Amino acid sequence: MSFTELGLQDDLLRAISTQGYTQPTPIQQKAIPLVLAGRDLLASAQTGTGKTAGFTLPLLQLLNNGKRPGKRQVRALVLTPTRELAAQVGESVTDYGKYLSLKSHIIFGGVGQNPQVQALKNGLDVLIATPGRLMDLQQQGHVDLSQVEILVLDEADRMLDMGFIHDIKRILKLLPNKRQNLLFSATFSNEIQTLATQLLDNPALVEVAPRNTTAEKIEQSVYRVDREKKRELLAHLISQHGWFQVLVFTRTKHGANRLAEQLSKQEIPAMAIHGNKSQGARTRALGAFKSGDLQVLVATDIAARGLDIDELPFVVNFDLPNVAEDYVHRIGRTGRAGSNGEAVSLVCVDEHALLAGIEKLIKQTLPKKIEPGFEPDPNAKPQPIENGRRGQRQPGGGRGQGQRSSQNQRQGEKSDKAPRRRARR
Ligand code: AMP
Repeated sequence: MSFTELGLQDDLLRAISTQGYTQPTPIQQKAIPLVLAGRDLLASAQTGTGKTAGFTLPLLQLLNNGKRPGKRQVRALVLTPTRELAAQVGESVTDYGKYLSLKSHIIFGGVGQNPQVQALKNGLDVLIATPGRLMDLQQQGHVDLSQVEILVLDEADRMLDMGFIHDIKRILKLLPNKRQNLLFSATFSNEIQTLATQLLDNPALVEVAPRNTTAEKIEQSVYRVDREKKRELLAHLISQHGWFQVLVFTRTKHGANRLAEQLSKQEIPAMAIHGNKSQGARTRALGAFKSGDLQVLVATDIAARGLDIDELPFVVNFDLPNVAEDYVHRIGRTGRAGSNGEAVSLVCVDEHALLAGIEKLIKQTLPKKIEPGFEPDPNAKPQPIENGRRGQRQPGGGRGQGQRSSQNQRQGEKSDKAPRRRARR
């Protein structure tokens, strides 16, 4: 199937070929005609499936055929959980809309609001926003959401994880009743289903990867190793196999910093990216990583959300995530549209229960490896897992918490809104 057959206009087809895409991905094949037909959508798709173009292309076409926005008005609102994802969607809107004369802008917290207020003044065809900053600007009267024609919730599960449900509900009240709604989520908790029921009108269901399973193109493996040997093993694997563009996940910001420093000392260029870094520092690190100057990027879960990195070959779980679903999100960074990827997890004795939770979720037993010279001590005793806050221990020894609130695990992280403590289910 070609993009032409999906009913897209010439100006969009030109932009698509400038991007070098020859064929629509499965989510694009399914979603584009449905969105063009004006349907509400409930789409299950992970990052890497081409979902952004799946909603951006038809959205631009629908907007291109309509009237321009009035002062402070917005015609299409895309809500994203993080600034990185907002930036990525914004980039797609600019890229795919380069031959159209639609106005778009991104707004998120952590930066000055004046340029955002200026951009909103004369109205926007597409506004991409994180919920917290959007509410701030709305309350100050800088944005009028009463004329929104299309609403997109991107990575809705992540928005709920980050405690944005109240902002989302307040935003929904500001929108007109008659509008088109598109909801994208990688996972489907009960909360997401409740939100979908409230939000969507007779939605078409689009599913490209089975729920809570990982993409087949990702080769996954687990190295069993002692807690204290993880860093050395990681340096060894990177050097031994000549891995480049390695995205490494750690549980804590402190752990990310420490690991990046230690790898750099061993002449493996590495930088950490997390919520305490300024937007500028994050953008620089990401830029260096994408351009290939930086071999390793060490990230925490929240900071990594929405990172747009094409064909990322390696993802390493230096620490297993406390929430099993985060494993699916993390490794979704690799094996992206049309390329293969490898996801390696370094697992010590403390993390066996977490590993079991992940294997249950993805319905796979992951192959276990032991690297010669890094054999784990068979008599090692598990220790409680360190929480996001330095030195703080999780109750219950930090094990068996596959269903625990991801919010609690991320309390040391900074998003553009203070996280709210709550049970996930
Ligand atoms: P996404 O899932 O939206 O984050 O997209 C993942 C990556 O796939 C992005 O870097 C896109 O540039 C790329 N992509 C999207 N659509 C296509 C396509 N039809 N062919 C090849 N690459 C694509």
